[in-house]
This record gives sequence, C-alpha cells and structure tokens, in this order.
Amino acid sequence: MSANTFSIDQATFENSLVEELRGEATLDNRPRQVPGFAYSRVQPTPVPDPHLLAWSDDLARYLGLEKPAERGPAAEVLAGNRVTESMKPFAARYGGHQFGSWAGQLGDGRAISLGELRATDGSPWEIQLKGAGMTPYSRRADGRAVLRSSLREYLCSEAMHYLGVPTTRALSLVGTGAKVVRDMFYNGNPQEEPGAIVARVAPTFVRFGNFQIFAANGEMDNLRELADYVIRRYYPELGEPSAEVYLRWFAEVSRRTAVMVAHWMSVGFVHGVMNTDNMSILGLTIDYGPYGWLEPYEPDWTPNTTDFSYRRYAFGQQPQVALWNLVQLARAIAPLVADPEQLRPGLDLYGTTLAETMQAMMLRKLGLTTYETADDQQLIEDMHQVLVDGVMDMTLFFRNLSHLAPQLLLDAANEEAQLLAFIEANSYAQPGYAGHTVLVQWLQRYLQRLRQESATPEAIRESMLAANPKYVLRNYLAQKAIEAAETGDLSVLNRLMEVLKTPYAEQPEHDDLAAMRPDWAASKPGCATLSCSS
Ligand code: AMP
Ligand code: MG
Repeated sequence: MSANTFSIDQATFENSLVEELRGEATLDNRPRQVPGFAYSRVQPTPVPDPHLLAWSDDLARYLGLEKPAERGPAAEVLAGNRVTESMKPFAARYGGHQFGSWAGQLGDGRAISLGELRATDGSPWEIQLKGAGMTPYSRRADGRAVLRSSLREYLCSEAMHYLGVPTTRALSLVGTGAKVVRDMFYNGNPQEEPGAIVARVAPTFVRFGNFQIFAANGEMDNLRELADYVIRRYYPELGEPSAEVYLRWFAEVSRRTAVMVAHWMSVGFVHGVMNTDNMSILGLTIDYGPYGWLEPYEPDWTPNTTDFSYRRYAFGQQPQVALWNLVQLARAIAPLVADPEQLRPGLDLYGTTLAETMQAMMLRKLGLTTYETADDQQLIEDMHQVLVDGVMDMTLFFRNLSHLAPQLLLDAANEEAQLLAFIEANSYAQPGYAGHTVLVQWLQRYLQRLRQESATPEAIRESMLAANPKYVLRNYLAQKAIEAAETGDLSVLNRLMEVLKTPYAEQPEHDDLAAMRPDWAASKPGCATLSCSS
C-alpha cells in the first residue's frame, strides 16, 4: 500500500462524457426510448453480497488503485452498491446494426459507467460496471450478468491485452450473491445461475452505434457534439474539429480498426458478434460475449450458435465485416462532412492497412523478413488451405513450427519424417490423414524459402517465438475456470490469469494449458458453442 495508491472508494472520478454531452438527468431506469440524449444518468441497483473474486494487479497498479479486501467499501463500489461523491454514473445511448439489420435504440442495457479515473501517467480511464442493474436501455432484459459470461469477459480482455491486441481491459470480477435466471441454450429451460459484475476499463466505451443512433434520428447537434467530444478527448493529435478533421478522424478510426482485426486474424480470435454496437470508436476489441479461439484452423468457424446458419461473423469473415461496419459509421457521420465521397479514402485506408498489417504479421509468424516475389505470395496464400486440409491446431502449429523450422535449418536429417511427426502431433485428424501429406509438401516449400533468409536459425527462432503465442484462452480452458469458479474454486481462474500474462514465454511448468482441445470439449456447450444468453 504505497502513499500514492487509493482504494477505489477513496478515488476521485471525473465525468467528462456526462459534463460535455447532452444527457437525461432523471435517475429513472425504466426501459424506454430516449430521443434527444447521448446518455441517461442512472444509479446502479445494489446486490445482496458483493465480494471480490478476481483483481487485475497490473492494471490496478497503473490506475493507482490498491487491492480491495474481499468484502468492504471497494468491493461495494465495484458492484455498484456504493456510489461515491465524485461519480456521476450513466448509461450511454446507442443504436446498431445487429446481424446486418438496423435494430434502432440499444444502449447500455446493463453496463453502467461510474466515471473516469486518472492513471499514474495522467491519462483518463472510464470504469464501467457490466451487470450492475437496469437502465433505460435494458429493453426486456434484467440488467444483470451471470458469472460464466463475466468471467469470460474478465479473462479474455486481459489475455488479449497481454497478447498485444488492442482491447478494453478488466479491473475486477465481483460476485453479487444474487442468482440470475438465464435460458442458456434458448431452448425453454431457464436456470438460476450465480450473478457477477465485471469492472471494465477503457479510455471510452463509445461505439459506432453511438453515432448511428443520432444519424438515424436526425439529431445533428448530438452527432456533432459527440464527434467533437471524441476527437478533442481521444484524438487530440488531429487538431480542433472541422470538416477536414472529421475526415482525418474517420481515416484514423478505419486504420485502427484494421490493425485490431489483423491482430485477431493473427492469433485466431473470433469475436462472435461484430454488430456495429460492438465496434469501439478507438479500435479496441470490445464486448466479449460468445467469442472463441480457433482450435482447428477453420475460416468458417464461429462459436456463436445464433450465427450458425449464416456464419456472418465467422473467423474468416471478420475483415469484411469490419469494413461493412465502417461503411455504416461513414454513413452516420456523413452529415458532418461536405461531400460523403470524401470519406472514401478513409475506407480505402482500412483495406490497405489491413493487407499490410496482416502480411507483416504473417511474415513474422513464419520467420520471414521479406515478401516480394509472386512465389512468396503464393506460399502464404496456399498456407491457409493446407492448414485447413491438415486440420491443424492454429496456435500449436505456429508455436511448434517456431522451434522446428530453425532446427531443420541447422540439421535437415530426416526432414520429411520430422515434418510428418510435427503435423500429427498438432492435428485433430488421425495419423495417415490425406491432408497431412499436402501439408508436408507445403512445409518443404516453406523451408526452402526460409533457407534464403540471412538471419541465423537462432535469431529466426527468437523472432518466431515472439510472434507466435504458446498460451491463448482456449475455449475449454475458460470453461474449466468457469466450472471451478461456480463451485467456489478460483484457483483455475487465477492460474490462467497468471500464465496468460506472458503468453509468448515458454513456462514449461504450464504445458498443460497449451494443450490441444481435448475430445470432450469438441462439442461441449461453453467450449465449442456459445449463445448470446449471458
Ligand atoms: P450484446 O449482444 O451483448 O452486445 O447486447 C446487445 C444489447 O442488449 C445491448 O444494448 C446490451 O446492453 C443489451 N443487453 C444484453 N444483455 C442484457 C441484459 N441482461 N440486460 C439488459 N440489457 C442487456
Ligand atoms: Mg454489446
């Protein structure tokens, strides 16, 4: 407990969004349309027994916060039971396209922002409680969140951060002592589940949908005020808002979105619900719901049962969908610029940034430094198909290749046998599977190309290991942490949290957390399939 860390119940909050944008001041949380406003002031609804389940030490240290006791004033703040004097809690109003269709007003139906804290470096960070009770935007739902989904959001946002993926963060996971009823599979079997609240942290949680609702309702003053607020506070380097600056800002949002999606594609992350209300205006991964991690490399894979028929948000669709979402944002902000056509270069920047970033990331994953010839392009294009053909575990393929390929540069004896053994060890198909032969041939082509690199095998190995994580939040690992936590055992969660902090480090004592998906998890709900019921 150093002199300059605070317990969160003693911290001073700022309220920039509430102070700068138009909001509804009444604390009425009954669901309704809220035309004309950017947010509604709300009061979190207290829970019976707020108790701390997990705490992110690193993030807390950065925010200047000290670890709370299991129960007490800080845990009460993190559950919404205690609203301190400097907080002006609010729920934001936003709309969005859900699965391609305009859904009208959505808004923070269960997320309540307490305000912003200044981190130790002076930057402002919004603290938002997810599951803290009803707001005007709760529609027909209850404003609550269950432990399983809260734990998934908590773990994954931190895991993504440590992987180097732009993301919102999570400060704490708090149990509420209340039960929440959910029909997990939408099959008419509602069950009581333990409730929980995550304190999420980001510079701002403003989404594409915040702009869309104003454009859809013709609220031009609100639209401009929101854009100006976001630019002044989060994109100050672009200068004072003007027609010209709106264009540069849109281009920058596009660029950041491309970088975010390239990261997802590089680590095998599937967001699962890329509705426009789940797209951050800062290019951060936001709203962890039915997300998942590729186990077999399968562009068509999504864990989201709601999306099984169209697979709109499957792994391989993500680059296209983000662009579609940016087009919706462009439409929303078009009234701010002289000619909407001027937004096109911003959209084009998405495409070029995505292609360049994905290419650079793939080169690093493969230990290559240049990508010049048509042969190189063909090599990488073919890789996607042979990984599918080989039914390869994406994470283990790249990680173990980082060890094997440099080794084979030093000593190519029994190369083919070694390649086959490597494939069989990291594939979900049985030995002898036809796809394995195709993959051996591709790997031989790749090794030939790798031999042209001038770096030493050791240097190649080091750079590949730094680009290919050993530990990702495999779907079955999150499920194991949930099942243990539901019985009161937090050891699985805590261990995962520690290991995922250094996902590129070998940590051999934790090899079991890098293992391929076990058979039992191939079709188990929560591992292979997830619904939006959370
Ligand atoms: P999502 O699919 O999680 O991004 O949520 C879409 C919309 O539904 C957002 O406006 C959420 O705030 C709202 N929502 C989801 N779950 C709940 C809930 N349990 N209570 C109130 N609103 C919810
Ligand atoms: Mg959402």
